[in-house]
Amino acid sequence: MSRAADARTVDLDALRERVLGEQGGSVDDSIPQLADADPDLCGLALVLTDGTVRGSAQADVAFSVQSAVKPFLFALALLDTDGEALDRIGIEPTGEAFDAIKLETGTGRPPNPMVNAGALLTAAMVDGDDVAAREERIVRGLSAFAGRDLEVDEDVAQSEHLLGDRNHALAHLMRAEGTLSVGADDAVAVYARACAVLVDARALAVMGATLAFGGVNPVSGERVVPEGVARDVVSVMATCGVYDGSGRWMRGVGVPAKSSVSGAIVLSAPGVLGGAVISPPLDEQGTSVRGRIACEVLSAELDLHVFGSRWS
Ligand code: GLN
Repeated sequence: MSRAADARTVDLDALRERVLGEQGGSVDDSIPQLADADPDLCGLALVLTDGTVRGSAQADVAFSVQSAVKPFLFALALLDTDGEALDRIGIEPTGEAFDAIKLETGTGRPPNPMVNAGALLTAAMVDGDDVAAREERIVRGLSAFAGRDLEVDEDVAQSEHLLGDRNHALAHLMRAEGTLSVGADDAVAVYARACAVLVDARALAVMGATLAFGGVNPVSGERVVPEGVARDVVSVMATCGVYDGSGRWMRGVGVPAKSSVSGAIVLSAPGVLGGAVISPPLDEQGTSVRGRIACEVLSAELDLHVFGSRWS
């Protein structure tokens, strides 16, 4: 059976039940709204080339997108700057935590767009003359990736802005290095709001699918970004999307992905499918414990590993 056919029939509720038994990890407590997340929330969704969206139980439960927004912010920054974002941000993995207070040696650029420094900058690079205009541009752009109108959780946005001390530190550091051209507090405000966009597993899977299918949303049919932008973004997801766990992820799952502190993982399997898993308990690298297991199982069952046995 082909991989696409397997994705059409794989039992997502059975997989959900299987991973729900896993009790490891702890829920992020950086803001009260995340600390309050239900540790037993677990939802999975897959999106196929023809726009079919398949979801398990709880695939419709809303959560804040958090760092799973970073590939899409990078895509919008590439689009809005005509590729200039690639000169202003590195694309090398860091081997460090997502919020490390560190810029590229010698250039003062963020190391890559998947860590906080990079995402603060990509969020500042989208079209818009002020905070409100950039926020509006981001929500509109993310909605195009999702194929439906997304909304912001205002309480989460406010908490992220107020409590994101390390993000404020990174923004000031980039100001000092001359890499951030907007005000530090404005940069944190826009990034915080992007992290607070509400999605569910289905919407996030469509977003991942849009990148996996060369920038065309398979549900709405809209071309959201050019093929080259999608390829650049998926490449950086593959090398940097799971932070200092990216190497282990690539070996074990082998599908470009982005993790986040809400416990979401977005998957972009080029030309095959988009996917998303939500389950809040995280490992030390900020990756959903159940999400990782679910992705390992899916990758094995659907033969998704990008370096898998293509010759058989
Ligand atoms: N809101 C979080 C932050 O910037 C997102 C981090 C994450 O999901 N890894 O700190």
